[in-house]
Amino acid sequence: MGRRRRKVVRMPKKRLPKSFDCPECGKTSTIGVNITSQKPLIIARCSECGKEIVKEFVGNKEMTFECQNESCPNYNQTILRVRPFSEHVIFAECGKCHGKTLLQLPLEDAPINCSCETQKQVRLTTRPAERLATLTCGSCELICYLLASPVDEPVDIYGKFLDRYYGKG
Ligand SMILES: [Zn+2]
Ligand SMILES: [Zn+2]
Ligand SMILES: [Zn+2]
Repeated sequence: MGRRRRKVVRMPKKRLPKSFDCPECGKTSTIGVNITSQKPLIIARCSECGKEIVKEFVGNKEMTFECQNESCPNYNQTILRVRPFSEHVIFAECGKCHGKTLLQLPLEDAPINCSCETQKQVRLTTRPAERLATLTCGSCELICYLLASPVDEPVDIYGKFLDRYYGKG
């Protein structure tokens, strides 16, 4: 008995549109949407001078934060070490006295355990990853930046853009 070859039926894939009409210049399919993801940020605030040191949060690697303020007693010193502990917890350590703290993510403006003599403590903040969408028209000067949700497709961004363009957003 010969094997009967089954006919492969290809369902046409529903394609989400990638280019859109421009309300500014009236041309069709000239607007493109580009969505980029930005990594979450860790912001450390120096205990002495209050200056913030902002770094992109890199997974599974220790990060160190040095105060960059030349007139600060902490200048060029590691004031903080941070590494991921588990998916939603980071491990923070005072760069000077090695006081250790576990912090739950996302966190907003939390102090770290520190037994340094200073009354003030290094503080930590995280800012979650964001998706930034850029709309540009290939035919006119139109450019628009919008924050995208984790599930937004270009067509959703275009909808938000139109809402804003016509004053509904
Ligand atoms: Zn400082
Ligand atoms: Zn300390
Ligand atoms: Zn245009």
